[in-house]
Amino acid sequence: MDFSLSAEQQQIRGMVTEFVDEEVVPRATEIDHDDEFPADLVREMGELGLMGMPFPEEYGGAGLDYHSYALGLAEIARGSGGLGTVVAAHISLAGNMLYEFGTEDQKEEYLTPLAEGRDVGAFALSEAGAGSDVPAMTTTARKEGDEYVVDGGKLWISNGSVADTVTLFAKTDPDAGNKGISSFVVRPEEDEGFHVEGTEDKLGDKGCPTAELRFSDMRIPEDRRLGEEGRGFVHALKTLNGGRITIAARGVGIAQAALDAALDYAQDREQFGQSISEFQTIQHKLADMDTKVSAARLLMHQAADLKMRGEDFRKEAAQAKLYASEVSREVANEGVQIHGGYGYTKDFPAERFYRDAKLNEIYEGTSEVLRNTIAGNLLD
Ligand SMILES: Cc1cc2nc3c(=O)[nH]c(=O)nc-3n(C[C@H](O)[C@H](O)[C@H](O)COP(=O)(O)OP(=O)(O)OC[C@H]3O[C@@H](n4cnc5c(N)ncnc54)[C@H](O)[C@@H]3O)c2cc1C
Repeated sequence: MDFSLSAEQQQIRGMVTEFVDEEVVPRATEIDHDDEFPADLVREMGELGLMGMPFPEEYGGAGLDYHSYALGLAEIARGSGGLGTVVAAHISLAGNMLYEFGTEDQKEEYLTPLAEGRDVGAFALSEAGAGSDVPAMTTTARKEGDEYVVDGGKLWISNGSVADTVTLFAKTDPDAGNKGISSFVVRPEEDEGFHVEGTEDKLGDKGCPTAELRFSDMRIPEDRRLGEEGRGFVHALKTLNGGRITIAARGVGIAQAALDAALDYAQDREQFGQSISEFQTIQHKLADMDTKVSAARLLMHQAADLKMRGEDFRKEAAQAKLYASEVSREVANEGVQIHGGYGYTKDFPAERFYRDAKLNEIYEGTSEVLRNTIAGNLLD
């Protein structure tokens, strides 16, 4: 068992760390305040290969292993939780749908521009009445000649208002439950009937637009279907399993940022004539925070390791995501506490880490649903 990073993994993490410290950290407060998609940063990340980290070079990707991808994503999220979601939705969800289930032509046409960072991707599964309960979706794709006619709507779609390529799930057979769902590639610029209804005003995760989409009589050619009809639910579950490793990474990154900020502050702040870091209570908080981040990081790498070996990683990805999500919220909470009153203001980033961390417990499988997944796996 070897817990050390290879020279290449260290080099990649170092490169992303440098980019994040120089380009993202100085912009993070502005991104949080303005809540605007940071298109210039995303372009720069594309040039550095960060928008296609795990995809093979033949499809425009950087060809990184999953450990490196998770490390890179954690670093990006350390700089900005919103940017972490932008990249996770783009790569782990939209990109992976094309990589895993697309034909060679579809990969060439839609995955390559995503991986090179020329296009932005989104993954449109959730609906107003279908979050955890995916098969309750009501969006339909009716076959008419060599086209599908899509009607319905999606909610909570990360990157949804800025995406060039949206991987969409719709019912091709509304009476067949989860076996009646199919997946498609949608191109908002080309496909008439694609409407962005608006974006959410969220607690955190700023800079990543979370859009409501509506499709009215939207016609898409048959060759935009991914895989066979009726496989969409399986595509969604498989994609979300992999995605959970990167949401674990987002949790690790935000928790690390909260810990780093708390360490700095605790050594600067003096009360009762001494640094607050000399109080054992504060030291123990810092010790617990660091221990939790380390444990979350190990679970993330365990899931990545199984995925790379081609073994079943569903339970481990759910555990990594569940644990890292809860740890990021707990560590960010203690970060605010260590900052005292200042932590409750926008003068310090501690409160941003807290708001950004909370989301991890909700998307790509709520913590409750992940516990169901883990328990189901244990009781199989
Ligand atoms: C900022 C943001 C970005 C998102 N990005 C995307 C995206 O890019 N693409 C996309 O498709 N979706 C996205 N989502 C949607 C997200 O995946 C859903 O919000 C999530 O799956 C939960 O669904 P829901 O909000 O409908 O809550 P519900 O499913 O209604 O859940 C409400 C509560 O009930 C609990 N619950 C539900 N079912 C069970 C059960 N079986 N057992 C125990 N408890 C249960 C939940 O855990 C939760 O506490 C995003 C959401 C947010 C907030």
